[in-house]
Amino acid sequence: MSSFTALRFHGQSDIRLEQVPSLPCGPDEIRIRPGFCGICGTDLKEFTSGPILCPQPGSSHEQTGARLPVILGHEFSGTVAELGSSISNVKVGDRVAVMPNLGDAQFGLSKCAMCEIGKINLCTKTAYYGLDALSGGFSEEAVIKAANVFTLPASVPLDLGALVEPLSVAWHMVRISGFQAGQDALVQGAGPIGLSLLLVLKVVGARHVVVSEVLKKRAVRAQEFGADAVIDPTLSSSSDKNGDPNPVVAACRQLTPGNLGVHVAFDASGLQSTLNTAIAATRPGGTMFNVAIHSKPLQINPNDLVVLEKRYIGGIGYTADDFRAVISALDKNADFAGNAKKMISGIVPLEDVVEKAFKGLLENKEDHVKILVQGSQSQS
Ligand SMILES: [Zn+2]
Repeated sequence: MSSFTALRFHGQSDIRLEQVPSLPCGPDEIRIRPGFCGICGTDLKEFTSGPILCPQPGSSHEQTGARLPVILGHEFSGTVAELGSSISNVKVGDRVAVMPNLGDAQFGLSKCAMCEIGKINLCTKTAYYGLDALSGGFSEEAVIKAANVFTLPASVPLDLGALVEPLSVAWHMVRISGFQAGQDALVQGAGPIGLSLLLVLKVVGARHVVVSEVLKKRAVRAQEFGADAVIDPTLSSSSDKNGDPNPVVAACRQLTPGNLGVHVAFDASGLQSTLNTAIAATRPGGTMFNVAIHSKPLQINPNDLVVLEKRYIGGIGYTADDFRAVISALDKNADFAGNAKKMISGIVPLEDVVEKAFKGLLENKEDHVKILVQGSQSQS
C-alpha cells in the first residue's frame, strides 16, 4: 500500500510530519500533488489552542468521518495526478486551486436551502479540507472532490494559486458588503486578510482606501500595496477639521467629499476600539462590515445604526463564484497579480513545516504576510 508524507494535528501544541496511507480516489474525486499551501491564522490557532475547528478528541465529523489526527492546510494549489472515473472537467497534469469548503452536494446529500442558492459557505453540515476532512494541503497528496477544484490559467503559477483562498475571503466580503466602484473604504488591520481586502478593493475600482495599522512593517506594506492613507490609530490627530481626536476617522473624513466618511468600513481587527472607529468613520447610510472572529462580545449602541441609517453586517468564507472571480482577476489584472505575489513573505519546504513555518511564524508574526509551504514534488 502506498503512503505519503503529511503534517497532522494530533492535539494542542502537537503537530507531526508523518507517513500516512494513500486514500482511494472516488468516482467524483481528483488526486492532486499539492504545490504550495499557505499557513493561516486558523492553522496557528489550532496548533496553539486547538482543536477548535478540527474534530474534538474521540469524535469524528458526521459527513467526512475525519477524526484526530487530521491533515492540516486549507490554502492550497496543486497538480492533478489521478482522476476519478466520472471526472471530465480536468485532466492529469492540470494545475488547480482548491476551494476547501465542502457542502451537502459533496457529501452526496440533497442540498440544504443555503446550498440550493449557491451559499455553500452557510451550509449547516460544512467541513473543510485541512481541518475536518480526510485530506489537506500540508501534504504530498490530497484527494479532493471535483467540485472543489478550479483550473488555473497559464498566467497563474502554483504559488499564486495558493493565494486564491485568502484572496477569495476578501473578494467575498467586498462583494456582499455592497461596495461599488468609485466608492471609498476603510480597512482596519493590515494582516493577510486586511491586505487582501485592500488589493481586492483596488481591483473593483475603489476611489480611496484608508488603512489603519499599528505595526510599522504592516503599515509600510499597506502603503506599497496602494493604500491612499495608512494611519497608526494610536497617534493623536492634529489636523481634523471636525475636532475628532481619532486619526483614522479624521483621515476617512478628509479623503471623502463633504467630509462624510467612507461608504464601507471593513474591520479585520475585531476590537471594541476598531468597532467604535468603524462607526465613526462611516458616512450616513454606509456599512460597517465585520470580517474578524471575536473571542468575546463587543458593545454597540443601536442608536448609532438608527440615527444615520448605518448598517452593521458580517461575512464568512467564500463560494465557488468568489474563487472563479479571483482566478479571473489574477489572470487579467497584472497589478493585482503582482501585488498578490508580494504577499508571499517566505517559502518553506514541507520537511521544515513545523520548525520554520509554524514555529517561525509564531515567533515572528510581524515580518510575515503569508508563508507558503512547498510540496516536495512541485515546480512553480
Ligand atoms: Zn448545505
